[in-house]
Amino acid sequence: MPKRNRVRFGSAGIPHQCEGGSLEAIECSHDLGLGAMELEFVRGVKLKEENAKRLKPASEKFDVRLSAHAPYWVNCCATDKTKQETTKRNLLLSVQACQWAGARVAVFHPGYYQGKTSKECFKLTKSLFKKLKTQMSKHKIKGVKLGAETVGKKSQYGSLDECIELHHSVKEIMLVLDFAHLLSRGDWPCKNESDYSKLLAYVEKNAPGYMKDFHAHFSCINYSEKGERNHLPLEGKNPPPYKPLMKVLAENGYGGVIISESPKLEIDALKMQKEYLTHF
Ligand SMILES: [Zn+2]
Repeated sequence: MPKRNRVRFGSAGIPHQCEGGSLEAIECSHDLGLGAMELEFVRGVKLKEENAKRLKPASEKFDVRLSAHAPYWVNCCATDKTKQETTKRNLLLSVQACQWAGARVAVFHPGYYQGKTSKECFKLTKSLFKKLKTQMSKHKIKGVKLGAETVGKKSQYGSLDECIELHHSVKEIMLVLDFAHLLSRGDWPCKNESDYSKLLAYVEKNAPGYMKDFHAHFSCINYSEKGERNHLPLEGKNPPPYKPLMKVLAENGYGGVIISESPKLEIDALKMQKEYLTHF
C-alpha cells in the first residue's frame, strides 16, 4: 500500500456544474472534492489583471492548484515573422496571467512541422524562447513555466521525446504529459498497467525529478492513422484506460496534477480520483 496520495485532480476550465466565472469555480471545485483547475485561454487570454489577481488568494484558501492552457494559435516552428510575433505575444500573455493568478504553468502545443524537420523545429523554438525570456524578465515574470504538451497528431511538433528535449534545453519549459495524445500520435501504447509503468519510468529516467510534481492531461480519445480526432469520456472501452494509470501513479508515489479534458470534465476528474484513492 502506498503511503500518501500525492496526485491532485481537476477540470480543464470551469466544471460544468459550477456557476459563475473562474473565481467562483475555485470554491466550487473545492466543494466537489477536487484539488486543481486549469484556466482555459485556448481562444485568447481574456482574463484581466484585476480579476486574475483575485484568483490567487482563492486558490490558496480553497487549496485548488491552478494552471492554464495557452491559446491554440501558438506555433513555435513558424518561420513567418507575423506568426512568430503572434506566438510570442500569446505565450507572454499566458504566463503574465498565470503570474497574477498564482498558476504554476501555462500549457501550450509546441507547433506544426509544415515541411520542417524535428531538428529545425527545435532550433526555431529555442530561438523564440530566447526572445520570450527577455520579454518575461522585462515584465518581471518569474517562477511560471510554459508547459510543452505532448500533442495528438503526427503533423504536430511535440512528440514525447521532443517535449522531453525542450524540457531539458529550455529553462522556461516544462514537460506536460497528455496520455490520450501519446496514444493517438503513436508515441506510446498506453494499453495496460505495464505500458504506463514503462512510460512513467522512461519519463522519470529522461526528466529526473519530474514525476515528483508532474503536470498531465487525461481523457479518452477517438483517433485515426493521422492521430487525434476528438476527446471522449472515460466510459466503456474508450481508450486509453484510466484505471491502470491510477494504480501505477499510486503505487510509485508519483505526485502532480491530472487535468480532465474529457467532455464530462469534472465527472471524469472525480472518477479518476475515486479510482486513484482506492489504492490507499
Ligand atoms: Zn492541449
